[in-house]
Amino acid sequence: MNKFTLKKDLLINEIKWCLGCGNYSIIVQLSRLFEKLKINKKKTIIISGIGCSSRLPYYMKLNNYHTIHGRAFSIATGIKLTNYKYKIWIITGDGDAFSIGLNHLLHTIRRNININILIFNNGVYALTKGNLSYTNFNNKFNFNIIYLILSAGATFIARTLDSNPKHLRKILYKANKYKGTSCVEIIQNCPIYNNIKNKNNNKIFLKNKKPLIFSKNKCITLLNNIFNPKIKIKNLNTLKNNNNIWYHDQNNNYKAFLLSQFNSINKKLPIPFGIFYKIKIKKKISKIKKKKLKLLKLYKKNFIF
Ligand code: SF4
Ligand SMILES: [Mg+2]
Repeated sequence: MNKFTLKKDLLINEIKWCLGCGNYSIIVQLSRLFEKLKINKKKTIIISGIGCSSRLPYYMKLNNYHTIHGRAFSIATGIKLTNYKYKIWIITGDGDAFSIGLNHLLHTIRRNININILIFNNGVYALTKGNLSYTNFNNKFNFNIIYLILSAGATFIARTLDSNPKHLRKILYKANKYKGTSCVEIIQNCPIYNNIKNKNNNKIFLKNKKPLIFSKNKCITLLNNIFNPKIKIKNLNTLKNNNNIWYHDQNNNYKAFLLSQFNSINKKLPIPFGIFYKIKIKKKISKIKKKKLKLLKLYKKNFIF
């Protein structure tokens, strides 16, 4: 009865997004994940701020909140701290999270409580008619989302895209499983103000412990000098020395920072997708949980509900 189903709980007919908006793909994949995991509707909350993406809570039958600009993070933190058994998803856009909500976002990441943050990055303020946002690559003074979030101490950071449903679902699944704050940047197409559908940027899909290979026969090499790392694109067929091929290591913070800067290091480097960085924090979480349980017991003793 309380289990989420795609048929009954995704209110597809209510959706007010423009035709062709990337948000459709994201909401469908999120719903498919919820159905697959048989999530309890009463214990799952979606919280959003303001913007096109932030309308998502209206379209799923869950305990949802459409809150105020940039403050979904603070409200989610409050809910999680008082009801730690609730599963919380924050839906935010590049405008909502990286303008008015930036300091709330960074401090939420720093606290590393067990919530999921999905950042829909369409590179524009779509709700206010398409001015370039701070996260748009074409903005000369843009914010690098992954770099900034890593700097705030994120322990799980990934990038995916609306046009690859399989990859999107896989990353959402991993974010959901993670015990800590998971941050996922989703490159989202806005066909009205920033249509990126036909822009053929090279992409590379990161697989842990596997070499960085893209366009079938190209690979990335890294000559690892911490003060002057040399990153090059090589042809696999003509590569003489395999020693410098870059193997992805999702536990390596330094390499995650380098990956996040591919676009600014060299425009020919592909845009990475997948999990950039992830650390296990099981012990830390369980200790925090124990402390919270103690506090809750103390609270219940002294107050009547
Ligand atoms: S303006 Fe862009 S982001 Fe907003 S609903 Fe339309 S297509 Fe989607
Ligand atoms: Mg936006």
